[in-house]
Amino acid sequence: MDSDPLVRRMRPFGTTIFAEMSALAVRTGAVNLGQGFPDTDGPAEMLAAAADALRGGQNQYPPGPGIPALRAAIAGHQRRFWNLEYDPDGEVLVTAGATEAIAAAILGLCEPGDEVVCFEPYYDSYAASIALAGAVRRPVTLRPADNGRYAFDPADLRAAFGPRTRLVLLNSPHNPTGKVFDAAELALIAELCQEYDTYAVTDEVYEHVVFTDADSGHVPLASLPGMWERTLRVSSAGKTFSCTGWKVGWASGPARLVAATMRVKQFLTFAGGAPLQPAVAVALALPDSYYDGFRADLQARRDQLVAGLTEAGFGVLSPEGTYFVTTDITALGGRDGMEFCRALPERCGVVAVPTQVFYDDAEAGRRLVRFAFCKRPEVLAEAVSRLRALA
Ligand SMILES: *Cc1c(COP(=O)(O)O)cnc(C)c1O
Repeated sequence: MDSDPLVRRMRPFGTTIFAEMSALAVRTGAVNLGQGFPDTDGPAEMLAAAADALRGGQNQYPPGPGIPALRAAIAGHQRRFWNLEYDPDGEVLVTAGATEAIAAAILGLCEPGDEVVCFEPYYDSYAASIALAGAVRRPVTLRPADNGRYAFDPADLRAAFGPRTRLVLLNSPHNPTGKVFDAAELALIAELCQEYDTYAVTDEVYEHVVFTDADSGHVPLASLPGMWERTLRVSSAGKTFSCTGWKVGWASGPARLVAATMRVKQFLTFAGGAPLQPAVAVALALPDSYYDGFRADLQARRDQLVAGLTEAGFGVLSPEGTYFVTTDITALGGRDGMEFCRALPERCGVVAVPTQVFYDDAEAGRRLVRFAFCKRPEVLAEAVSRLRALA
């Protein structure tokens, strides 16, 4: 027997960086700005609806694609915010978080050897899902540009596409960089998808977290000409309604892409979150004031942390969206983000994550470190006062 029973294709994937850094935070009593989960609850109406459903007997298997009320709310939300039309019967699928939607889509669409174009640094589940499918990732590197925003070289993107490209996996607003892909970048992605006749899977979990000073608002790739019919959009209640532990997400797209994803999803979890589904339907229908307040609140927290990090001497790459800010540690004498993050709790009592673990080309992210600001203002204030010790 093998000394390691784990299948070879999963061996390159260790324990996630979040587990390591969160354990470090607990051990040292540090303020944890590593993992991106909010430390306050989502909207009260949503929580009340979940409690009602739980007490009201909605505790057995929901339908595989999701309960009709939630699928209708998902379609209504996309029409309302993005002017996108999806039929709740067949073009919407409720999943166990965005993570399951992405995994099921890749497993359902990629043959072994097919290639997936993605932008690095990437969300850590992407590489694992691609590997499980036996597919091959073709990363395009995002690098800090002179204007303080991240950018990619269009020639790199063009070079990443080829005859084996099956799909592009696009995350915008982008974790961990906070980048919001602009119209020209989206147009190039759309052009290449059509030129090479590929699909797109879009991870839009931060669709409602684009700040008012961003260069552009959020534009779903599916809304570009020729893209609706080849794009599967993925969203998450966890990020939009501050309930990351619920793991309720969804995928929307043309029926054949949703069906392919469903085929795999039915044998992963089949269904889940019965009492949570009606609650998410309630949340999706909340008035604009909820969405505006949610964004304004996060923008104020971003500003608070960006100011603190700047004062502490970090090279701050101010994000246009998401829960995260990345920083360059060179000015603080840091040469390696991993080393820097392992030492940070001892140095000043704060936990962050090195972004090099989200790159294939670790050198590109060697000196970059990510902090989460989806925390209460008093928690951020404490972190900022501790970080001052570095300056
Ligand atoms: C949080 C996150 C996810 C996962 O969402 P879940 O609904 O918790 O599965 C996927 N992609 C990105 C970019 C994220 O930040």
